[in-house]
Amino acid sequence: MKAVRFHEYGDASVLRHEDVADPEPGPGEVVVRVRAVGLNHVDVDMRNGTSRLPLALPHTLGFECGGDVAAVGPGVEELAVGDRVTPLYQVACRHCEPCLAGRQQFCERLEMLGVQRAGAYAEYVLAPADAVVRMPDAMTYEQAASTQTTFATAWHCLVTRAKLRPGETVLISAAGSGVGSSGIQVAKRAGARVITSAGSAEKLQRARELGADVTIDYVEEDLTARVREATGGRGVDVVLEHVGGDVFERSLAAVADGGRVVVCGGHAGEVVALDLIELFRHEWSVIGCARASEAELRHVIELVGRGELTPVVSEILPLEQAADAHRLMEDRRQFGKVLLAP
Ligand SMILES: [Zn+2]
Repeated sequence: MKAVRFHEYGDASVLRHEDVADPEPGPGEVVVRVRAVGLNHVDVDMRNGTSRLPLALPHTLGFECGGDVAAVGPGVEELAVGDRVTPLYQVACRHCEPCLAGRQQFCERLEMLGVQRAGAYAEYVLAPADAVVRMPDAMTYEQAASTQTTFATAWHCLVTRAKLRPGETVLISAAGSGVGSSGIQVAKRAGARVITSAGSAEKLQRARELGADVTIDYVEEDLTARVREATGGRGVDVVLEHVGGDVFERSLAAVADGGRVVVCGGHAGEVVALDLIELFRHEWSVIGCARASEAELRHVIELVGRGELTPVVSEILPLEQAADAHRLMEDRRQFGKVLLAP
C-alpha cells in the first residue's frame, strides 16, 4: 500500500509518499481502508521533532480517520468486511486503574494511532476491533475524520473540565482551528454566550455563521479591550485557550473574577508569564486539558451522527499532497479541518 511517512525530523519536505507493507490483522484486530484522515497541528510538531512524544522512525502520522473494514483477524465477530467505521485514536488497555475508572486518556499502557502505532496517513490502518466504532449512518467519512480530536477535546475542555453553564460567557481563541470551530458549537449547545477571535475578516464571518455572538480580529483589534467592552467591563467566565504565548497572556487579562482558563494547546509559545498576584487576587483557575475519555469520544461521534454538531472541513487533499497540507496548516490558512483522502 501507499503511506506517507517521515524518516527524519524536519520541515514538510521530509514527508514521503511511499510503498510500505500492507498491514495484516492479528487476533482481535481489523484493517480499515482509510477514506479520509484528519490532520492535527501536533502532526507538525511530531514531524518537526518538537512534540515530546515518543516516536520510532520511519513514522506514519494520522490520529483520526473514516473508512471501511477491509479485513478482520481471528476472533473478531462484532465487525465485518465493508462496515463503515472510525477507529478511536486512543487505544487503551481496558484493564489498568484509570481505564477501569473510565479515564482511558490516562491509561498506563495508552497507545495512539499516529504516535505509538502507525497512523492513518495511509491506504490502510490496523486497529484493535474493540477500539473501532461503527459510523452512524448519516456520518460521512470526512466527518468521521474530523470529530474526535476537535469535538471531544472541546467537550472535555468546556463541559467536563470547565463545567460551562448556560448564560456564562466564554472566550474561544483561534476560531479558524479545529478546536476553535468545534468549541464554538459545543459552547453554544451548552447555552453559553461565545466571544471568539481570529486573524481575518473571512474567518470571523465563518465564526458568526457557526453561532459566535462576538468576534474579534486579534491582528487589528485590542483583544482585552474588546472583551471588556463586550462584557460590560466584567470579563469572561471561561477561556478556551489553545494557542499559547502572548495569546494566553492577553486572554488572562480578559477573565472575570473567579473565571476559569482551560488550556489544551500552546504552539505559539509553551512557556508563558503568569503573574501569581493577579492569579490569586482574581481567584482564577488555570485548568490543563489533554484528551477526552472514551465515553466522550463515543458521545461526540453520536452527536455528529445526529447532526447536533457539525465538523467544519476546510480542505481535502490527496494523500500524496500531505506536505502541502502541512504547509497550509503551518500558515494557518484553513478554517476548520484539513483532511487527506488516500
Ligand atoms: Zn489502561
